[in-house]
Amino acid sequence: MIAPDLDTAIAVLRDLIEDAERIVPFTGAGISTESGIPDFRSPGGLWTKNRPIPFEDYVASVEARREAWRRRFNIEATFAGARPTRGHLALASLYKMGKAAAVVTQNIDNLHQASGIAAQDVIELHGNTTYAVCLDCARRYELGPIRETFEASEEPPDCDCGGIIKTATVSFGQAMPDQPMRRAQELAAHCDLFLSVGSSLVVWPAAGIPLMAKRNGARLVIINRDPTELDDVADLVVRNDIGDVLAPFIGH
Ligand SMILES: [Zn+2]
Repeated sequence: MIAPDLDTAIAVLRDLIEDAERIVPFTGAGISTESGIPDFRSPGGLWTKNRPIPFEDYVASVEARREAWRRRFNIEATFAGARPTRGHLALASLYKMGKAAAVVTQNIDNLHQASGIAAQDVIELHGNTTYAVCLDCARRYELGPIRETFEASEEPPDCDCGGIIKTATVSFGQAMPDQPMRRAQELAAHCDLFLSVGSSLVVWPAAGIPLMAKRNGARLVIINRDPTELDDVADLVVRNDIGDVLAPFIGH
């Protein structure tokens, strides 16, 4: 059903959450927009102005890396200033109650961790932009020191091992990491309630995860401003504001 109004959405969702024992929250850009982080894919979003730099260009070209770091530091204020939204806090409450063992996210903004979910229980399908890693040895680098060096020299950073350093995100053309995808599929296969929050469910293979949950017998809830291709198979579709819908579940 499509919730006819906010009160109905909250009431039906409350029943579904009370009945559930193993909830899998799955989040996309829509959960973070309230924090000021734009949906890069939306019309007018960053990606329509600045075409994303494909992974093969990043590794092949020092100029592409320079441009990538320039862009990254241009939006640093947005990421650094962002705080968890009401949606993040509600999902963190489900986690702390033991109803949700982990959260699966397409977001790269670290806001689930900031909301109180342990890092190992945030399954990031597209990585994380708030730190960097060496593509060869996987050593972790913080962005602050990289920025200082970059702004002084305009030279993209390299690892001590000689490898290329990149934000810990999954770029276009870069292989999706196996392990997060496997964990997400495992959770989807064994949950009884799957909550898709703020994802337009168009980016595959991530969008296949809610479908897998549904096929394994879970209830499926889709909370998203715009219609999605899975609305027809969902048990509850909510198009109201995510923060308004989830606020009553904070701290319960
Ligand atoms: Zn290295």
